[in-house]
Amino acid sequence: MASVSGIRGVVGKSLIPEVLAKYSAGFGNLCKTGGQNARPQVILGRDSRTSGEMCRFAVLSGLLATGCEVIDIGICPTPTVQIAVEELRAEGGIVITASHNPIQWNGLKFIGSDGTFLAEREVRRLLDLVKNDKISYRSWMEFGKVKLDHSWIQKHIEKILKLKYININKIKRKKLKVVLDCCNGAGGIISPNLLKALGCQVIELFCEPDGNFPHNPEPLPENLISLCQAVKKNKADIGFANDPDADRLAIVSDLGIPLGEEATLALATKFILSKKPKSKVVTNISTSRMIDDIAKKFGSKVYRTKVGEAHVVRGLKAVKGIIGGEGNGGVILPELHYGRDALVGMALILEYLAESEKTITELASDLPRYFMIKKKGKLTKDFEKNLTQLKTKYAKGKINLIDGVRIDFEDSWIHIRKSNTEPIFRIIAEAKSKKRAKELVSESKGILSSN
Ligand code: MG
Repeated sequence: MASVSGIRGVVGKSLIPEVLAKYSAGFGNLCKTGGQNARPQVILGRDSRTSGEMCRFAVLSGLLATGCEVIDIGICPTPTVQIAVEELRAEGGIVITASHNPIQWNGLKFIGSDGTFLAEREVRRLLDLVKNDKISYRSWMEFGKVKLDHSWIQKHIEKILKLKYININKIKRKKLKVVLDCCNGAGGIISPNLLKALGCQVIELFCEPDGNFPHNPEPLPENLISLCQAVKKNKADIGFANDPDADRLAIVSDLGIPLGEEATLALATKFILSKKPKSKVVTNISTSRMIDDIAKKFGSKVYRTKVGEAHVVRGLKAVKGIIGGEGNGGVILPELHYGRDALVGMALILEYLAESEKTITELASDLPRYFMIKKKGKLTKDFEKNLTQLKTKYAKGKINLIDGVRIDFEDSWIHIRKSNTEPIFRIIAEAKSKKRAKELVSESKGILSSN
C-alpha cells in the first residue's frame, strides 16, 4: 500500500527486504545535494515493532547504496525524526513505522528536507523511480556510512519544555498523577520522561518499547479499556494514550472515561487560542465542528484541507496558522515543528489543566457538544452516480469537494470519501443530536450502496 503517507504492508508478505531497500534507494535518489559527489544526509528512526530491526537493515542498505550518509537515531516517535531532519538540515528522513496498524504491519514514512512529510508530487516521483526501475546506485567508493545518535529523544523533550506556552513550574506545582499507555510503542521512553520533567507522578502502562502491543494500537476508546481502569484505580488526574509512533494522542478523563479522539485537538486548540485569539487554525475536512465553534469564540478563522498530515501542514504554512492538526488526535504546533506530535499534545493539555485549575472532565464538558458517527460501505459500480444523487438530495447544504464530498448543514455535516487503499467508502457524520447523526449516515449509506 503506497500513499501520501508512505508505504505500509504486512511483514513477510508484501513488506519484504527488497521492497524496503528499493523504496529507500529511490528515496536516496530523491535526496540529492548540490555537488556531484556530495552525500545527502538522511535521518533514520523507527517505532518499536519487532520487525523494525529487519526493516532497518533493508532501509540502511538502500540508503547506503545510493550514497546517503545515515544518522540512525534509534527507536523514537515520528515527530522526533521530523525535528532531527529540520535541526540537522538533513536532506531527508525515513521513519520505519506502520503507525497505528496492528503488529503484523510495518512501513516507511518519508520526510523531506524541511522536516515535513513529502508532498504528493514528490511521493509520485518516488513511486515512479521504484515502479519503473529508474533507481541509480553508486559505485563501491561512493557508498555512505551510518552514524548512531541517540540524543534526539532528549532534544525533543527539551524543545517542548522551552515552548513559551509551557510553564514548567506551574505544572510541577500541580503534582499531577498521570497514567500513560504507550502500547509498548516508540513513545515508551520519551513520553514518561517528558511527563516526569513536568513533575508528574507517572503510572506507566505498557511503556516498554519492545513492540509487543498489548492491545489494538489505534488509540480509539474501545482499545483503551486497561487505561480507563488504571486511571480509576489509581485515582489519577488524567490518562494519555499514544499510538505506536507517538504522533496521535488520546485522552482519558479523571473519571476513567475516554474523551474520544476528536477532543484532543479541540482542547489543544482552545488552549492555544485562549493565548492567541484571532489566529488561524488549520485542520482536515473530516475533523469535528468543535474546532469551528471554538475558533469563532476567539475571533479566529478555520481553514480546512484534504485529509492527511502533509495537506494540513501545507495549509498551516500557507496561512501561517498558529495551531492545527487532525481530529484523530494529531496535534500540530508549528512553533515546535510542522508535524503531528503526541508529546506536545500532552504538554499543552497539562498546562491547560494547571492554568485553568479545572479537572479534565470539566475542561471536556466545556467543549461544544456534538455526536460523530463513522461508518464504511462497499464501493459499487454505481457509486459515482449515487453520489451525484446524494448531492442533489442535500442541495440545500453547503458542498465542499476538496477531498470527497462534504456537505454542511445548519447543525450537522456529512463527509463521504473513497478510501485510497481499499474498495470502500467512508462516511463521517456529525450533528448536535445523536439521532440526526444516525439519520444522516443511514440515509446516505442507503443511497450510496444502492444499485
Ligand atoms: Mg501514528
